[in-house]
Amino acid sequence: MATQNFPQWFGEQMLMVAVDLIVTSLLLIGLYAVFRRAPRTWWIWGTVVAIIFTILGIMLAPVYIEPLFNTYKPLNDPAISEPILAMARANEIPVTQVFEVDASRQTKRVSANVSGFLGTTRIALNDNLLKQCTVPEIREVMAHEMGHYILNHSIKLVTYFSLFFLAGFLALRGFFQGAVTKWGDRWGVRGIADPAGLPLLSLIFSTVFFLLTPVINTAVRVTEREADAFSINTSREPDGLAKVALKLGEYRKLDPSPMEEFIFFDHPSGRARIRMAMDWKAAHLPCGPEKANP
Ligand SMILES: [Zn+2]
Repeated sequence: MATQNFPQWFGEQMLMVAVDLIVTSLLLIGLYAVFRRAPRTWWIWGTVVAIIFTILGIMLAPVYIEPLFNTYKPLNDPAISEPILAMARANEIPVTQVFEVDASRQTKRVSANVSGFLGTTRIALNDNLLKQCTVPEIREVMAHEMGHYILNHSIKLVTYFSLFFLAGFLALRGFFQGAVTKWGDRWGVRGIADPAGLPLLSLIFSTVFFLLTPVINTAVRVTEREADAFSINTSREPDGLAKVALKLGEYRKLDPSPMEEFIFFDHPSGRARIRMAMDWKAAHLPCGPEKANP
């Protein structure tokens, strides 16, 4: 689904490496500073540093990093922006404009996003979505992004990730100390504050996060499902949700097995989303054998 040629793609990859190099260096400076100052409680302070970096990343990336790769501009077609802003007003979301991002620079994928933290929140839809979807479908997708905002998902996910970081640092405390006691002399690693231990630290941390994959994906997938529930109640577009789920099927397997969904899916599968849409539709039929509100 890529729309870039090799030099364009490679150039962006190099830019990402440059950004990564700066951010990771700052993170390591922060981590080793607390490792040196707190020889016994470093794992608590390490978790705190990781949480601070996550929050700063969520706040600063939309402002300083995302514009390096894409252009965000206000969506000026009132036929599309007005129905979206009406939903925002109905939910007391303090936005006066919706943004369009030129995702077609990199990909043909249909998507939208809400980014930022507290004051920096921005709701944006991508130009592929704009080109390929009808207004009811666009309303449904934007209501989903508003759901993330209203349900405080950035704060919720930061809280979940704090627990994952804590798990990583607890594993680090156990395994790093154990390995250094046993092989430290041979490896020339003196302790957690010794930068020579960085490869071991990375190995332990990435193993923990690899093993946590289903847990992390499930935490994210459950918040995505909450945003779906919000979107369908707000936009009242069950067919919109179902049709967008089918369009996302271009890059997300529509009908995975429950185990596949549990391990790999950070969004509900197309099947789960269509099921939700149709259950909602069935529950909201104007008449039926039992009329709740005659
Ligand atoms: Zn979402």
